[in-house]
Amino acid sequence: MRVRELLDAAPGVGSRRAFTLMAKAGISETRRIGGLGSHQLQKLRSEMILNKVPVNPGTLIVMSGPGGVGKSTITSFLRDHPAIWISVSVTTREPRENEKDGHDYHFVTEEKFDQLISQGALLEWAEFAGARYGTPRSAVTDALNLGKHVLLEIEIAGARQIRRADPKALLVFVSPPSWEELVDRLTSRGTDSAERRAARLALAEEEMACSGEFDEVLVNHRVEEVATALLSLASSRSKGLI
Ligand code: 5GP
Repeated sequence: MRVRELLDAAPGVGSRRAFTLMAKAGISETRRIGGLGSHQLQKLRSEMILNKVPVNPGTLIVMSGPGGVGKSTITSFLRDHPAIWISVSVTTREPRENEKDGHDYHFVTEEKFDQLISQGALLEWAEFAGARYGTPRSAVTDALNLGKHVLLEIEIAGARQIRRADPKALLVFVSPPSWEELVDRLTSRGTDSAERRAARLALAEEEMACSGEFDEVLVNHRVEEVATALLSLASSRSKGLI
């Protein structure tokens, strides 16, 4: 969605005011909201506050669940939805083939990750399978304040930190239709060794045992159904801008 459309949808903005707000924040007419950098988000937010544009903050949605359950397919499905902002995490792991820096993750060195922690720039962070992963704080806050629902696809230790930091966050656990189906999905990745498969299954079992800590458990029969349920849960907590 374009920033212009987002502002046009805001109550009482109108097209002339939308144009002025964007010009002041240095954002071009054709810019998509998903493509805004954190600096531009911040500027746009300040202009909106100065101009008294009313915005209900969006809902912070945390989506967790065992590996292989389909979380990234759900995230991809929601990527272009106008009401949703997908957070891009920082990680110290190596990019996989076809992953792009800034799109799938911000890939950083261990030193840079340490620096982000000490600056308080991460909303949460955790270690997973030998690498560190964290959620950049300011981009999430700015997107929420602009009325977007923000989706974090993170593992369970991170979800617990968000629960403590923001009791209003919506914590959703995505579960497979059955344990057998998850085993099928996890073991059909032919490239894994038997040892690696066993480790993935053990981890999935541990993750499944945490589902009770979440506000909602959504069973992934169909990606579209989970995505629609996520959106309606988020909107029932906060209307956001759209
Ligand atoms: P992968 O390396 O397969 O992309 O991700 C491994 C795990 O890290 C997944 O469970 C994913 O949800 C989780 N993850 C990705 N980003 C973050 C983050 O920013 N924080 C936390 N705590 N976990 C993350």
